[in-house]
Amino acid sequence: MDCIFCKIINKELPSDIVYEDDKVLVFKDINPKAPIHFLIVPKKHIESINHLQESDREIISNLIFTAKKLAKEKHIDGYKLVFNVGRKGGQMIDHIHLHFLAGKIAQIP
Ligand code: AMP
Ligand code: ZN
Repeated sequence: MDCIFCKIINKELPSDIVYEDDKVLVFKDINPKAPIHFLIVPKKHIESINHLQESDREIISNLIFTAKKLAKEKHIDGYKLVFNVGRKGGQMIDHIHLHFLAGKIAQIP
């Protein structure tokens, strides 16, 4: 599949990995919009929020719990979570990802 995030997940492309388990990969955004900018990505290829099925509830929930876990482990006491959806919503990569943004100048991209 010609998906850049699937290639990162499969280690066909490099990334700066922050966290990994069997369901999710977290890596640093290559073009950070805040001092801390992680991408929390499910290993299952789902194009966008608009492509979710009922059976994907746990996968999406897991992204948010992963954010909570990372914040606790890294002692990040405030952060923003953002899903861009569709081109007009600013989504450039068609594999669902949750932006984790933190730091003094964190703003929604
Ligand atoms: P979005 O616009 O919501 O689709 O976000 C895609 C994000 O992926 C952007 O913030 C990009 O900077 C980031 N990005 C694109 N390619 C890479 C890559 N190879 N490694 C890490 N982050 C990337
Ligand atoms: Zn993918």
